[in-house]
Amino acid sequence: MKFELEKLVRDNIRRLTPYSSARHEFKGEASVFLDANENSFGSPVLLPSSGGEGIGERFNRYPDPLQWQLKFELAKIKGVPAEYIFIGNGSDEVIDLAYRIFCNPKKDNVIICPPTYGMYEVSANINDVEIRKVNLTEDFQLDVDGILGATDQNTKLLFICSPNNPTANNMKRKDVELLLNNFPGIVIIDEAYINFSRQKTFIQELTEYENLVVMQTLSKAWGLASLRLGLAFASIQIIELFNKVKPPYNINKASQALAIEALQNTQQVNDWIKQTVEQRDFLIKKLSGFPFVKKIFESDANFLLVRVDNANTLYNYLSQNKIIVRNRSKEIMCDNCLRITIGTPEENLQLLKKVRNYEK
Ligand SMILES: *Cc1c(COP(=O)(O)O)cnc(C)c1O
Repeated sequence: MKFELEKLVRDNIRRLTPYSSARHEFKGEASVFLDANENSFGSPVLLPSSGGEGIGERFNRYPDPLQWQLKFELAKIKGVPAEYIFIGNGSDEVIDLAYRIFCNPKKDNVIICPPTYGMYEVSANINDVEIRKVNLTEDFQLDVDGILGATDQNTKLLFICSPNNPTANNMKRKDVELLLNNFPGIVIIDEAYINFSRQKTFIQELTEYENLVVMQTLSKAWGLASLRLGLAFASIQIIELFNKVKPPYNINKASQALAIEALQNTQQVNDWIKQTVEQRDFLIKKLSGFPFVKKIFESDANFLLVRVDNANTLYNYLSQNKIIVRNRSKEIMCDNCLRITIGTPEENLQLLKKVRNYEK
């Protein structure tokens, strides 16, 4: 099957002349910048920093629209050229942009595989794009034939979340590869939890599959949820489309500078990942000992999906005891399931202590 990106892109986006910023129009060396109507004197606050690169940075200038310095740091860590990276204001912006680039409202459709991450559907509804749901199989794997059978000439996107939220498991690599080879549109693999997984990332397959977009985020393992940094990895052609449609300064200066600094701390992050995985095994072992715990689903993420005899009762009991978990029991195939994030060792002990009292 020949892949033609042009045919998947909306006409208005293909024709779009993007906004051209002041810094964009001038390329070269200069020492006096009077082109962007900024405050030339300075900013009334400086970037607070624990040290290192970012110290004392000012905010009066517009930030780099393409975040090159941050992308170069990410490129080193991820093993891809910086040109293959897009940075969004959280993964939510990446998802929204994918709809706006590829999906004509009221005409095109996308495929999602419930139970899965809620934003794929919300974003489709915001953009007035038809959603086709092909549920995961009973063991929470992709229904490959069902997905391919649900496509038509207006199918533009397929969202695969692996490890999947809320089921916590990896999708089988063979199935994902089958879909990459046969799905007629763009395949978006959401790897928000990849750092906790035994599965390896699909980032290294970008040259193999022209229709692949891999999403990751700095919100989970990297511990930067409040900086709002979502990542997309794709061919240069697809990245150009994202750059064309995004707001010019979608990533603010503070987030860029702090993330550059944070990315130097790989040791700390790897240590947290290791601890999280250890704590995951510990919680599985402890929780499975309670008679009201019916099933703990296999996890490749930093959370557990746990089926109990009465999810609502346990949820209410825990929240009355100031422990908040996520009640997923209304999701399809998740009846009586709670989603529990792996906490610090102390937090996990507190959870277990309360759960022990619940029995009585
Ligand atoms: C948490 C999560 C994200 C991250 O979203 P951000 O907007 O980057 O914070 C993305 N996908 C899934 C499936 C998630 O669970």
